[in-house]
Amino acid sequence: MTESPTPHIEPPLELLDALTSVRKPLLIAHISPDGDAIGSLTALGYLLYRMGKDPILACQDKAPATFNFLPFYDRIVQRVDERPDIIIALDSSDPTRMGTIYEEERFNGLPLIVIDHHITNVFFGDINWVEPTCCATDEMIYYLAKALKEPLDETLATALLTGIVTDTRGFRTYNVTPEVMHITGELIDAGAPLAMITERTLDTRSMALIVLWGRVLDTVEFADGVISAVNSMAMRQDLEGIIRAEGLVSFILSAQEAKIAAVFTEMPDGKVECSFRARRGYDVSRIAVQLGGGGHPPAAGCTLDGDISSVRRRVVEMLRQEIREKSMSKLVKE
Ligand code: AMP
Ligand code: MN
Ligand code: MN
Repeated sequence: MTESPTPHIEPPLELLDALTSVRKPLLIAHISPDGDAIGSLTALGYLLYRMGKDPILACQDKAPATFNFLPFYDRIVQRVDERPDIIIALDSSDPTRMGTIYEEERFNGLPLIVIDHHITNVFFGDINWVEPTCCATDEMIYYLAKALKEPLDETLATALLTGIVTDTRGFRTYNVTPEVMHITGELIDAGAPLAMITERTLDTRSMALIVLWGRVLDTVEFADGVISAVNSMAMRQDLEGIIRAEGLVSFILSAQEAKIAAVFTEMPDGKVECSFRARRGYDVSRIAVQLGGGGHPPAAGCTLDGDISSVRRRVVEMLRQEIREKSMSKLVKE
């Protein structure tokens, strides 16, 4: 296969310089990591390792076993004992997303680099490379490898394709451009197993998760374009090792009448995790930011204090308001 055309996105030169001269970078993926967090962590970790560096790969929460086919999966730590010389935050829109890994006092004075594709990114680093048009942070790591003139190999391509496949839910999102498809072709050509990645990350669920989906689906409510459901602690008491009804929020948005979907998850610490999805034309990242979270227009989230029913009531009302405003502005335009 021919190479993809020259990428139209180029990393900042100061980033390339920093990565070339670094010795022991600390790479941090966001808390509750998804495929793009672990994909970009392992892709960049492997790339830097191949360049002769000694990277530390870290994430506050253990990477789900789903991703154990990725390079350096076993080297991801939940605590950092060594002293890095630079810190790189991946797929993280604000510093709280790094969780307990980023210890302000301890790492004070070390350069912080942010590599991210969230439109809600708050530019919290010394170098901020933020590309909201990219479908995944892994797409950015691909451009980084190209700019560093580092060849793809099967291992790197597999880690890169994992973030692209998971963040686009299998190439279904509007940010999948012809360039993403070119890149994907190149990654497959380098040995990335597309079907295996898709099967492992999108089409495999534990039996317990299926059971939880059933219970959460039982709580579905719909009104004024907003479909919502709750996932309480009590509902999963007998389901060991399972918290989130992973994937369900995208599924309920498939209801024909729904414009916005929300799932509210009661966490073990008593807080409520809110997960939002929107159809094209609606923006849930705005509401997530208003509530102290972040994300992308079609997929965003936040974590709130309060009991799950009142959080649901309050947030669903805000989501309905978003739909009303969009309908109003459409009427004005027409
Ligand atoms: P999720 O619903 O957990 O899959 O998250 C959807 C999107 O929202 C992802 O891009 C997340 O990075 C982002 N997101 C979720 N929760 C938060 C949060 N508390 N703060 C910032 N971004 C979030
Ligand atoms: Mn992510
Ligand atoms: Mn991402």
